[in-house]
Amino acid sequence: MDLESHAEDLASDLGVDNEEVLEDLRNLVEYSVPIDEAKGSLRRKYGDGSAGGGGPTATDVGSITTDVSAVTVTGRVLTAGERSIRYQGSDHVIVEGRLADGTGVIDYTAWEDFGLSPGDTITAGNAGVREWNGEPELNLGESTSVAFEDDPLEVPYEVGGEADLADLATGDRAVTVEVSVVECERRTIDGRDGETEILSGVFGDESGRLPFTNWDPDPAIEEGSSVRIENAYVREFRGVPEVNVSEYSTVTLMDREVDVGSDAPTMSVREAVDSGGVYDVALVGNLLAVRDGSGLIQRCPECNRVVQRGQCRSHGDVEGVDDLRTKAIVDDGTGTVTAILGHDLTAEIYGGDIEDAREEAREAMDQEVVADRIAERIVGREYRVRGHLSVDEYGANLDVSEFSESDDDPEARATAYLEGIEA
Ligand SMILES: [Zn+2]
Repeated sequence: MDLESHAEDLASDLGVDNEEVLEDLRNLVEYSVPIDEAKGSLRRKYGDGSAGGGGPTATDVGSITTDVSAVTVTGRVLTAGERSIRYQGSDHVIVEGRLADGTGVIDYTAWEDFGLSPGDTITAGNAGVREWNGEPELNLGESTSVAFEDDPLEVPYEVGGEADLADLATGDRAVTVEVSVVECERRTIDGRDGETEILSGVFGDESGRLPFTNWDPDPAIEEGSSVRIENAYVREFRGVPEVNVSEYSTVTLMDREVDVGSDAPTMSVREAVDSGGVYDVALVGNLLAVRDGSGLIQRCPECNRVVQRGQCRSHGDVEGVDDLRTKAIVDDGTGTVTAILGHDLTAEIYGGDIEDAREEAREAMDQEVVADRIAERIVGREYRVRGHLSVDEYGANLDVSEFSESDDDPEARATAYLEGIEA
C-alpha cells in the first residue's frame, strides 16, 4: 500500500481532512517512523474514539485536554460558520465555531452537516479531540452523534461571534465584525483553480486595523465603505493576523459610518510578541543599541535585499544601490524587539540624506560612520515606536511607521508596570 492509500484509509476512519493526514504521515515517515507506528500516532492525534473501547465519558468543556482522544460533551454553540476546504480532491464544506458550557470554551470543526446554529444547546457523543494551535479542539465527524437539547444551557459567554478588530487572533473563526474599508485593491492571483481575482487591503474600526483578503470579491467592499461581515475567519499572513472573507461570509453595506481610531493600541513588548504579531501597535521602551546593517547600506537592484560586500544572496555580484536604514534594539523590561526604520525616518535621525551620508563615508573612508552617528543620537533614550510587528523564529521585528522620543515620565511608567505585575 502506498502512502496515499494509507492516508486515505486513515482519514476516512477518523473523519478528518485527507490532505492533513497525508502531510502528517509524510513527515513522520520522512523521520523514519515505521508506517504502523505513524498511523497509530495519528490516530491518537486526531482522536480515534474506537481506540479506547466503550464510549467516552461525559466531560466539562473546561476539563478537555489532548490527553484523551474522544469525549462526550454538552455545550452551547456560540458560533457556527461554514467554510470550504479541499478534501480528497474535491471541495467539502465544513462548519467551524466555538462551543461553551459554564466551565470554558472550545473550538470545534464539524466535518458532517449536523445543522448547528449559534444558540443551539447540543450533546456531542464521541467527539474527537485533537490539538490545534497548541489547544484542544473538538472534531465532530462520522462517528460523532449530535443531540439537540430543548433547554438552553446558560453560559457566561456571548452567543454570536461579534468582535472588535483588536480582539481578533490567528485561528479565530466564524467572527462578525463591523468595519470601515481603509484600503482596498483588486489583484489577480494564481489560485488553486488557476487565475482568480481577489480583494486585499486593510479594515479599521475604533479598536484598530487589520489586513484582509476577500477571496470572492464582494461589491460592498470598496475603499471608504462601512460593512458588517458575518462568518469571517482569521489566519496568519506574513506574521500578523489577517481577516479572511470567503464566499460563505455575509457582507452587508452599513448605513452608518464606522469610525477608525487614528491611534494604535499601546502594548508591552511581551504582550505584543506573545500575541504572535500585531498589524499596528505602539511600544514604549529604551533604545539599547543600533545593530549591524544600519546607516548607509546597499541593496540589490533586482530583489532589494541588503548586499554584503557587493554580494546578493540570490543574485551574486551586483552593483548595490545606496539606501538608509536603522535597525535598533528596543527594550521595555518585558522583552526586546528589533525596530526597523526605513529611509525617511533614518534620514531624519541622521540629519541628512543619502548624498550627505555618502560624503561623510567618503571622508572617513568608512561607511560605518553613518551608523555610528545614528547610534550617538538615539542609543540610551526612551522612544515610542509604532508599526507592524511580526514574529519569527529569530525574534520580533517592528516595521516602524512612527518614531518619537517618549514624553512619558519614566517613574510613572515604572510604577504602572509594577502595578501591572502585581495585578
Ligand atoms: Zn538580489
